[in-house]
Amino acid sequence: MTPPAELPEHPDWLWRNPDPQPSYDVVIIGAGGHGLATAYYLARNHGMTDVAVLERSWLAGGNMARNTTIIRSNYLWDESAAIYEHALKLWEGLAEELDYDILLSQRGVLNLAHSLQEVRDSVRRVNANRLSGIDAEWLSPEEVRAICPIVNISEDVRYPVLGATYQPRGGIAKHDHVAWAYARAADRLGVDLVQHCEVTGFEVRAGRVVGVQTSRGPIAAGKVALCAAGHSSVLGRMVGLRLPVQSHPLQALVSELLEPVHPCVVMSNAVHVYVSQAHKGELVIGAGIDAFNSYAQRGSFHIIERQLAAAVDLFPIFANAHVLRTWGGIVDVTPDASPILGLTPLERLYINCGWGTGGFKATPASGWTYAHTIANDAPHELNRPFSLERFTTGALIDEHGAAAVAH
Ligand SMILES: Cc1cc2nc3c(=O)[nH]c(=O)nc-3n(C[C@H](O)[C@H](O)[C@H](O)COP(=O)(O)OP(=O)(O)OC[C@H]3O[C@@H](n4cnc5c(N)ncnc54)[C@H](O)[C@@H]3O)c2cc1C
Repeated sequence: MTPPAELPEHPDWLWRNPDPQPSYDVVIIGAGGHGLATAYYLARNHGMTDVAVLERSWLAGGNMARNTTIIRSNYLWDESAAIYEHALKLWEGLAEELDYDILLSQRGVLNLAHSLQEVRDSVRRVNANRLSGIDAEWLSPEEVRAICPIVNISEDVRYPVLGATYQPRGGIAKHDHVAWAYARAADRLGVDLVQHCEVTGFEVRAGRVVGVQTSRGPIAAGKVALCAAGHSSVLGRMVGLRLPVQSHPLQALVSELLEPVHPCVVMSNAVHVYVSQAHKGELVIGAGIDAFNSYAQRGSFHIIERQLAAAVDLFPIFANAHVLRTWGGIVDVTPDASPILGLTPLERLYINCGWGTGGFKATPASGWTYAHTIANDAPHELNRPFSLERFTTGALIDEHGAAAVAH
């Protein structure tokens, strides 16, 4: 999708491939979904176009290319519900806004409950969601089967299905298209998307960040915005910022292409697997995180083995399907399973990380609120609660219940 530097311009290229300029008003580190969305909203909402997004590898080749594309907003706490629901509303108009088909499919998301405690927690979450104006329902096992006939609701399995939460507006979108759509729109507004440009250090003067060192030379910057997901703590360390973030591998896999058999998204915390069927026909099956820390973008075989055992338990029809491909990404997990989005102790340095296993669904709202924070040097109402300081004040937003299954 990106032209090699030596090729002339072509109408099919989605964005230019510029060399980095010596200075920008804003430098964003990381061209994943969040970095690209931030660049777009900086230009679109705040008129800031002297912006570069620096990517050490190729555009959107990190978690943005590796996620299982589930979108929903049914988180427990008001703060989370507000930001994820803002994202869902933006998703609903995004194809039109960016003039690009992102294949948004609001096919509904089921979160299964397999124990009495899970039932109580899930019903509480449904009630909280409704109070926040989010579409949420509690379903009996028979109602689950009516929506997804291939789920095994028999009582003769290790973890019988006791019910499920259901968000009809949840679903999936095509992650590559989302990245390309934001990239093209940002590029057209004048943003430089600079690939193969790794940030290796920061220029700091009197407590203020004034630029970055990169593999393609130094770049001066009025403001610098971290947006590096699994590599956030590596970048933080370069500038003396110790982040409460652990980086873990998270794996997923796909089956061969199948006829349509699975009409929605099904997730299960207890057996720890989640499944949807991609537009093309593959079953997209996600696992839990590998317990060790790593930056290697691959995980262990036993996690996949467990994931497939859980999938076959829930969906006996999958027993004869073949695995086509497995892969891993590196996700940035915080102690309260909520993101960090806001200011840092250093002037003109901003942080966006900690989305862990569930940041794809937040992409539009993350970009929207991060752009506001950067442009105004102050958080947007929606990201104010997600400050870095909450780990010292204790005002945590514990979303382990809603975010525990990796998605
Ligand atoms: C297997 C898997 C399944 C997932 N499933 C879901 C899901 O179903 N739903 C959901 O909501 N979320 C899901 N996620 C989580 C989601 O993918 C992430 O939370 C989200 O993509 C993170 O934001 P991003 O897109 O900006 O990250 P990334 O795409 O990882 O972007 C960060 C970028 O920073 C770049 N970078 C790092 N260091 C430097 C440096 N020094 N200099 C320059 N660039 C640098 C990286 O190369 C990378 O491109 C999943 C993740 C994985 C791995």
